[in-house]
Amino acid sequence: MSTFRGVARDELDLRQVLKTRFGYDEFRPLQAEIIGNVLAGRDSLVLMPTGGGKSLCYQLPALCLDGLTLVISPLIALMKDQVDALRANGVAAAFVNSSVPAQEARDILAAARAGRLKLLYVAPERLAVPGFREFLTSVDIGLIAIDEAHCISEWGHDFRPDYRNLRTLRDTLSTATVIALTATATARVRDDIVEQLGMPRARQFVSSFNRENLTYVVRPKRRARVALLALLRKHANAPAIVYCLSRDGTEALAADLSQEGIPALPYHAGLDVTVRRETQERFIRDEALVIVATIAFGMGIDKPDVRLIVHYDLPKTLEGYYQETGRAGRDGLPSECVLFFSAGDRAKFTRFIDEIEDPAERERAHQQLDQMIAYCEARTCRRAFVLQYFGESYDKTDCGGCDVCLVEREAFDATEIAQKILSAVIRTGERFGLRHIIMVLRGSRARRVFEWGHHELPVYGIVRDYDRDELKEIVGLLEDEGLLQRSPDKFATVSVTRAGHEFLRRRGTLTLSRIKRAAPESQAGPHDLRRSGDDSRSSGGTPGLNRELFERLRELRLRLAEAREQPAYVVFSNRTLEEMARAMPRDHASFADISGVGPAKLEAFADDFLQVIREYAASRETA
Ligand code: ADP
Ligand code: ZN
Repeated sequence: MSTFRGVARDELDLRQVLKTRFGYDEFRPLQAEIIGNVLAGRDSLVLMPTGGGKSLCYQLPALCLDGLTLVISPLIALMKDQVDALRANGVAAAFVNSSVPAQEARDILAAARAGRLKLLYVAPERLAVPGFREFLTSVDIGLIAIDEAHCISEWGHDFRPDYRNLRTLRDTLSTATVIALTATATARVRDDIVEQLGMPRARQFVSSFNRENLTYVVRPKRRARVALLALLRKHANAPAIVYCLSRDGTEALAADLSQEGIPALPYHAGLDVTVRRETQERFIRDEALVIVATIAFGMGIDKPDVRLIVHYDLPKTLEGYYQETGRAGRDGLPSECVLFFSAGDRAKFTRFIDEIEDPAERERAHQQLDQMIAYCEARTCRRAFVLQYFGESYDKTDCGGCDVCLVEREAFDATEIAQKILSAVIRTGERFGLRHIIMVLRGSRARRVFEWGHHELPVYGIVRDYDRDELKEIVGLLEDEGLLQRSPDKFATVSVTRAGHEFLRRRGTLTLSRIKRAAPESQAGPHDLRRSGDDSRSSGGTPGLNRELFERLRELRLRLAEAREQPAYVVFSNRTLEEMARAMPRDHASFADISGVGPAKLEAFADDFLQVIREYAASRETA
């Protein structure tokens, strides 16, 4: 167990470090507890969703502890960005991986040995490089942080054999504290990490997997192309990822979007490595905003400001869906996740799955598909559905952030229409499916109706004021009320329940709540689920935000980032820019108050940003 050396003593001290070294005013949930545990020399296992703020849980202790913090991270591109971000905050950090020339790597290790580095990032394969173990025993390592810890588990979605080297690393550095971090939530993976890393006594920190800033929407895959275009236009100038099932699909769709004036790049595992790397880089640096990809895209992408994730095809598993949508809105700002679903997907995917040879794997795939389809067909809150899947209970009845909860509902008197529908079901002998019942009610001239003699029933043609889709919706509501039921076989025969007969007999009244009938909307309208007056869920609409100034600050950020050859968010996050545009600081003191501004960034950037703010203010005063 590691000793207490030069450690900040209480939370007040820690908050001071948070502000002076990272520029933030408050800890996010669990961060302070985790950091306290680490500084007390106890091992930790951290499960937090993407964007929850895991990195800070080892970066801040690294600054408080004597000695070096060794960070194991599997993703080379990510390592560089993290180190850039730390350096922008004036933290001595470096990385060694296969992209670093040998001499430079030697210099870095020498600096670490001399105590001139606080954090050193390495890839797991480095542990097997000759000489590296000797290096490790020659430096004072106080903390080992294992990022993406699920990679050690074959149950996870991203197993990496090199992670198995970590077990022996623990033996080599037995006095160092360990913190393992992951965004993969299932209990099986969690148990496996504890076992593989041999840390049964680690304290486990599990944060809620609810991503409040994400809106989840399922849309029918009808006229999906038009709907997709409208979505991308709504999120114009914001980074977006569109996931497709097949490689060909990504290329065709990317070409099609580009044709429509929305420049988009394809990405899949079949593309050349250099092309893939370039596409990623361009996305990270905001040069390419829309990527149409297979699920091969995204793992190494630590881009905080992705505003839209679209699944143009059905994802294979709910867990995968959660991971992919998790790439939206890591900066905590409102972002949207839209999935296109067609009832035909079930048959299509079932065919694929039936070709899987291994029976156990095939069975698992079927279960996962059922789960995924249940999510799409649910008439209940999507967020609650996903969280329940991860074993988390969610009691709110209106999450305010999914298509089910956001749709405005209205109460209506359904007494008469319910009586008509139930009567039609009974009169036709409870032997028919929904389609037939609706045809009878609406007085269809279809041959089937005449063949059965249903045109002679008193219920024939008695419904004029509801169209087919509306009737379907009401039948669904009557099912929810328990007045009607459908047989579970493929015929889905409709029948009246006991409660339904009771309702008819009692001649009671019935009030139901249905989706509010809207005035005809513009093309971009149907999926635009924002409640009126609440603009905060759109890409560009934080209330009270000064858009024009924000855009100017963004331009400046891009210029500064380009000059430094770094991603824009290393300079400042969107959230920090938004606060700047809102507070409009005019001097260094008020600039330093903005969340995200620490002393290092104050010194590096304050003058440039203050100048833009002052110019903007002056132009407004003379106007
Ligand atoms: P994760 O690794 O869990 O996906 P990150 O560590 O990348 O998340 O953090 C996500 C974002 O939140 C980053 O932009 C980070 O700088 C920011 N962040 C982390 N902690 C705080 C905090 N206490 N206050 C404000 N922003 C924070
Ligand atoms: Zn909801």
